[in-house]
Amino acid sequence: MAKMGELSENEKLLFSHLNKGNDQEAIKLLSSGDVRVDCLDEHGMTPLMNAAYKGKAEMCELLLAQGADVNSNYHEHQYTALMFSCLSGSVDATRVLLEAGARVNAENNLGRTAAQLGAFVGQTDCVSLINNFLSVEDLEYYTKPQGLEKEPKLSATLVPVLHKFAVTQKLSPVKIAMYLRENQQLIENHKSLVKVMELLVESNIKSSEMHEVLAMKMHYLAFLLKTCARWHEGLEGKDGIEGFLKYLTKGRPSDGFFLNVEDLIRQAIRSFDYPECTIFKQLVQTIAPVEKGRDPTALSVITQCINGLRCADFSDCCCVCTEKKDVKKCSACKMVGYCSVSCQKLHWQTHKKFCKQLAKDYEKQLVAKLEAEKLQEIDKTEKDKPVEVNGENKCVLNGKDDQSMNYQKTATKNEDATAAQLHDDNREIKHEPTGT
Ligand SMILES: [Zn+2]
Ligand SMILES: [Zn+2]
Repeated sequence: MAKMGELSENEKLLFSHLNKGNDQEAIKLLSSGDVRVDCLDEHGMTPLMNAAYKGKAEMCELLLAQGADVNSNYHEHQYTALMFSCLSGSVDATRVLLEAGARVNAENNLGRTAAQLGAFVGQTDCVSLINNFLSVEDLEYYTKPQGLEKEPKLSATLVPVLHKFAVTQKLSPVKIAMYLRENQQLIENHKSLVKVMELLVESNIKSSEMHEVLAMKMHYLAFLLKTCARWHEGLEGKDGIEGFLKYLTKGRPSDGFFLNVEDLIRQAIRSFDYPECTIFKQLVQTIAPVEKGRDPTALSVITQCINGLRCADFSDCCCVCTEKKDVKKCSACKMVGYCSVSCQKLHWQTHKKFCKQLAKDYEKQLVAKLEAEKLQEIDKTEKDKPVEVNGENKCVLNGKDDQSMNYQKTATKNEDATAAQLHDDNREIKHEPTGT
């Protein structure tokens, strides 16, 4: 363990950069390799605690990627990084730490947890994030035999894998199936994992605080894990998870819509065991009246319900798996984006039928856009001219104004239609149950 305050010159420099907010300099030092990522300043603070206290989510991520201990507790008053992020009120930093396995029950020297400290300083968003987040401790409970049990329900070795799976924010069935394909341990142990997840659903529904969101999320993930396992074991479809991915990404012949994804999510929600719950009623009321293929999709509704509005906008995401990073447009039509070649390959069977037409649509949009820009340019030069008192001239000018606006509308209409609709529809999602 690092000793308090015993810092090398570079480590001192690192703290100084973090304190002053010189992020780039701090990053340079970290990648130089001669600073210990968990070094302690004179108060026992690690660089991660420092970044958390400043509410810097990206810096926290970077430090964790370098191996920082999320639960370091050598602070003089036993504060943890999570307590600091709660005090700062940064929801993003708090989420990053929770996802990395920060202990929510750790107490400082006055016996206060991170959530209690957050509540004390009025950071209610951080507090509710912690309360609706599956913690490592929630899982560890199942690694000890309870009551008359001889064997625990969950092997301790599976806690990290299950935790990582359960805290994912990406709810697209395609993305989840891809994740399970890469993490065979989850598939191989699906029976015990699903059992634990179902117990978590039950305990969250029955808890006095009613963590319905967490319960629905656990149910949804357990449902997809079960489905993937069935494909893997050949009980459903063929070719295992690979076949499942092909099945999910096969578009509807008429319009390429991922009908199988939509049906699967609707089925997952319907199979929730607690229909009296508000969250269940809300989801069903929002999704049931929507014609399949129209917005909002079941994926955007459930994502918004679990992760919030900001995460439910997939307009710039990979059209197959909803990944946000490294999305490149199909070079032929420039209308759909993919995060990887494998996503593009999965989609090609469907997309090849629409690519040509989409390319034509793109051309049309481009022409319209250019035209609108040209009109705007003319408009601008007209406006820059000295104002004429002549009424007739004024009319012409007004006429042009209207026209250029209309042009612009047509130009961007198609492009933004999906995004706009998603937003509009999202706004309509009811937050209060209206039925009986
Ligand atoms: Zn993708
Ligand atoms: Zn294309």
